[in-house]
Amino acid sequence: MTIYPWQQAQWQQLTRQRRQNRLAHALLFEGPAGTGKKQCARELAHALLCTQTADDGSACGGCDACKLIAAGTHPDLHLLLPTPPASSTSSNPVLSIKIDALRAMYRALSETSQFGGYRVAVIEDADKMPVQAANSLLKTLEEPGENTLLILVSSHPHRLPVTIRSRCQSTRFQVPDTETAASWLAEGGISQVGNALKLAHGAPLRAKDYIEHHAEQRELLVKALNAATRGEASIHYAQKLAQMPRDYLLAWLLDWVSDIGRLLTCGEATELVNEDQRAVLEARARTADKARVFSLHDHIISLLKAEGIALNPQLLWENLLISFENL
Ligand SMILES: [Zn+2]
Repeated sequence: MTIYPWQQAQWQQLTRQRRQNRLAHALLFEGPAGTGKKQCARELAHALLCTQTADDGSACGGCDACKLIAAGTHPDLHLLLPTPPASSTSSNPVLSIKIDALRAMYRALSETSQFGGYRVAVIEDADKMPVQAANSLLKTLEEPGENTLLILVSSHPHRLPVTIRSRCQSTRFQVPDTETAASWLAEGGISQVGNALKLAHGAPLRAKDYIEHHAEQRELLVKALNAATRGEASIHYAQKLAQMPRDYLLAWLLDWVSDIGRLLTCGEATELVNEDQRAVLEARARTADKARVFSLHDHIISLLKAEGIALNPQLLWENLLISFENL
């Protein structure tokens, strides 16, 4: 079972509710990205379908239901993820939950369970649902079938319509303290954590993902920003940045610009996210205009919120680099 050390309280509460038949028909797992919400949702779904759950409330892994789950063929388990547009050839496509997939899920949930037990659906990144899909979800939430459970997972629950949020029982996940996160990473063989936990704002899975897959990408962004700080042209980096995951890059850029803002308002004693780049950030802050820094900061936030909108990535990065040069 993969219930992370920092999720024990949530898991125990859900297990208690399940055993007392007090689970709501719809749950919302919310909290920062990289805290393992999806994993926990799947574990709960498996536990509901397993016919011989273990003492800690987890699926046994050995019964017929568990074998079907492992093979990805359990007829009462439905997993929905955001997918790219069918025609997309982009290396960095906009992902969304397709209404057809949702409808197929509703149909399956309204049919009788194949095994006489629960029917469970997990919708990951539920905030990536178009409005039309969200509206159709409401009906399912208002008239849940017998023995059905719907688990919505979201790192941006405020983007879900309030009509949906209010019909779900919320379970909140938080980032653990640094020590818990670092010891979990060490158990997984990562002893050189460096700045990764800071960059991930304490979220252990995001830090792990960063160390294993994204460190080089941030390095390139840092190179581009350092070139701009030295007064050199940085725009030629746009082409490469455009091919990388937008949400990660924007989040790092936001931290970078926030750090400059912090230096401008709080002085050099302030703590920074990019502590490993303090010297260059201080240099940039010395010549930066406060109003421009905050305006770029707000612009990046608006871009992060617009993650579902396709933008020309090359133009996006050219504009951002020019704005950064002109701070
Ligand atoms: Zn089992």
